[in-house]
Amino acid sequence: MGLWGVGPLARWRVQGLNRHCQEIVASMLNAKSDLIERYGRLEMEIQRRMNACCSAFCSVCKSPCCRVEYCREALESPFLEAVRQRFAPAVHWNSDSGWLTAKGCGLAAGRPPVCYEFLCRPILEAQPTPERLEAVKQLAMLVTMAGRRARGNRHVVELEDLERINAARLLAQVTSSSAALARMELIEADRV
Ligand code: SF4
Ligand code: SF4
Repeated sequence: MGLWGVGPLARWRVQGLNRHCQEIVASMLNAKSDLIERYGRLEMEIQRRMNACCSAFCSVCKSPCCRVEYCREALESPFLEAVRQRFAPAVHWNSDSGWLTAKGCGLAAGRPPVCYEFLCRPILEAQPTPERLEAVKQLAMLVTMAGRRARGNRHVVELEDLERINAARLLAQVTSSSAALARMELIEADRV
């Protein structure tokens, strides 16, 4: 069970509280578990759409933009670790190449948001219309938007621990990013 899963220790702690507190704590644990699940599923759908836009370029790229420093963020962020545990990758961490494999990134979910944000010039210049260009730029920001203001103004991937995380706000943002994604028929229609 992942970091936010309701494991035996968490259940034992919940049982030691009165009924009202039990309900509050159980509700918080459920909200965080739900957040991990929905964030990961949103990320994988965004990834699928971005692959449709970018894989023709990335698969033959002579100078890939992936860096071990970026990969390491997925290793060090408790939130990204929780997502990675829920959506387990088929690859293991490699200190030389991070999560990068011969077939691209090996992480199913839990990639740093910056990995989605960056769109290189050839990809931007290949977009056939201004509308399509704008849609691709918006798509690239949806993971980042889903994790904003997790505690104060800090992004969820920046937090050193997952205490006092604003799960309700994050769930609302995940819903908002999912709705924006559903409206992006342009990307889906142009899938390669
Ligand atoms: S985004 Fe651009 S620079 Fe990065 S791997 Fe793809 S083609 Fe290469
Ligand atoms: S996309 Fe994957 S391999 Fe590339 S920098 Fe991000 S985590 Fe590393």
